[in-house]
Amino acid sequence: MDDAVPLAYYSGDGPVPAPTTLARTATGLRPVINATGVILHGALGRAPLSAAARAAVDLAAGTTDLELDLRTGRRDRRGRTALAALAAAVPAAAGVHVVNNNAAGLALAVAALAGRREVVVSRGELVETADGFRLPELLVAAGARMREVGTTNRTTLGDYADAIGPDTGLVLRVHTASYQVVGFTDSPAISDLAALCADFEVPLVGDCGSGLLHPEPMLAEPDVSSWLGWGVGVVTTSGDKLLGGPQCGLLLGRADLIDRMRRHPMSRALRAGKLTLAALEATLRHPDSPVRQALRARPERLAARAETLAAWLRRAGIAASAVASRALIDGGTGSAADTNTCGCRRGYATGVDQAAGRTACGAWGFGCVGAELPSAAVALDAMIAAPLRHGEPAVLGRVEQGCCLLDLRTVPAELDPVLAAAVLAAATEAGAAILTDAPTEPHSTAAADTVVTVSGSAVVSGSAVAGASAMVSGSAVAGASAMVSGSAVAGASAMVSGSAVLGGVPAVAGSAVAAADMVTVESMAIPPTAVADRRAP
Ligand SMILES: *Cc1c(COP(=O)(O)O)cnc(C)c1O
Repeated sequence: MDDAVPLAYYSGDGPVPAPTTLARTATGLRPVINATGVILHGALGRAPLSAAARAAVDLAAGTTDLELDLRTGRRDRRGRTALAALAAAVPAAAGVHVVNNNAAGLALAVAALAGRREVVVSRGELVETADGFRLPELLVAAGARMREVGTTNRTTLGDYADAIGPDTGLVLRVHTASYQVVGFTDSPAISDLAALCADFEVPLVGDCGSGLLHPEPMLAEPDVSSWLGWGVGVVTTSGDKLLGGPQCGLLLGRADLIDRMRRHPMSRALRAGKLTLAALEATLRHPDSPVRQALRARPERLAARAETLAAWLRRAGIAASAVASRALIDGGTGSAADTNTCGCRRGYATGVDQAAGRTACGAWGFGCVGAELPSAAVALDAMIAAPLRHGEPAVLGRVEQGCCLLDLRTVPAELDPVLAAAVLAAATEAGAAILTDAPTEPHSTAAADTVVTVSGSAVVSGSAVAGASAMVSGSAVAGASAMVSGSAVAGASAMVSGSAVLGGVPAVAGSAVAAADMVTVESMAIPPTAVADRRAP
């Protein structure tokens, strides 16, 4: 099948423009629908980019005025428009710089500001990420000497004051996003630590991690602007977490400190690519990223989508129900009792059950330790999890208590029909166990091995069903091409199959995409004449 076949999307709001984002490309990367409920999934590449950011990447991929002033014809500062957007987004920052990721930002801060001198840091903040990356090792690798202060659970302002001396390069404050120390704990307020550092005239560098530029009331998560307001000299953070942008490290703060970092030789080795700068700028100028949408999606709306999807799947013969769910900001959190072997809340990060769940999982926590967002999911038989993962596009759900949950908070609404088609295709592979009924009224089809009946109409679910002959046979038409075609066609033809099942009208393979324009998932209303009119020759 032709990968380029346009695919119509459906939602309760009607069809929306065809996606190109799930098309296969020249890379070996495979598109994945993130139905895990983990908004920032490390193994899936963290934040998906907005349409604006993708368009910017596309533009930047060609030749642009990246380092050129077109008016004068002279060389100009690389990525100046991205830097201007960042400065505009965070007025509290007098200086801004962008590097490859947050870890690079920390390394550069240490190399440029501390050199071979000491980095004073609390013992409670010496974190390791889930992928074995240890912050203290990074600091040492960057050339600094560690000067640990305090204890695991308690570090006081006095501990810092005692440690700061002539050999201090900088004081580092790390937001311990991936875990929480609770109980008998203490650490000085950031503003107090900043005042202390100002007294000693040593820079305070803050690793704030999450990528929030401003306070987000719904999250108990530090943000760059607040830290700068409290007097932190330089704040480092990630671009591909809650900001919802590309992988990069943002450095914001005092102009003199930022300048020292920018001019340090290491900065060339850590600099951000042109595609990154373009995506970052677009994300800053159009901040309504998929991450933000996932964070803000209303639970009622998610529940309605889950009901619609589950009802549609049931009509297609698949045992499915809409259930309440809990989404997470990231997969790196969770209590020990509820955590799998890779330190992730069971099933969340991997989309596979604990027994099988040894795959890579989210790296850093994002601060919202234990924080869950109410969500809604479609519950399917767990047997479908693997076929879904193997599908095209791949769908990653999470397996909980024998069910495969497809959590909709992390699925953009316009992908619901693609998800429906993917489930239909995977259901066929998973076998009859996940179908609601044995066939009662088989229809003859070209190459179906299995036919099940739903509401008196035939749904073809054979694994080798092919082509137009299958599509035109019988009084109702199947998700047949879903089995044999790429994701794009699968989406469309599955929609037709759904409508056909409901409407009891014949649909034709070649017209699947066009006919599907007429369908909405919510109502499944499809004028039979419209289908007939748009039938392929
Ligand atoms: C995520 C995170 C990092 C690492 O950021 P990268 O952009 O992945 O390098 C460092 N510190 C904190 C607090 C984080 O949350």
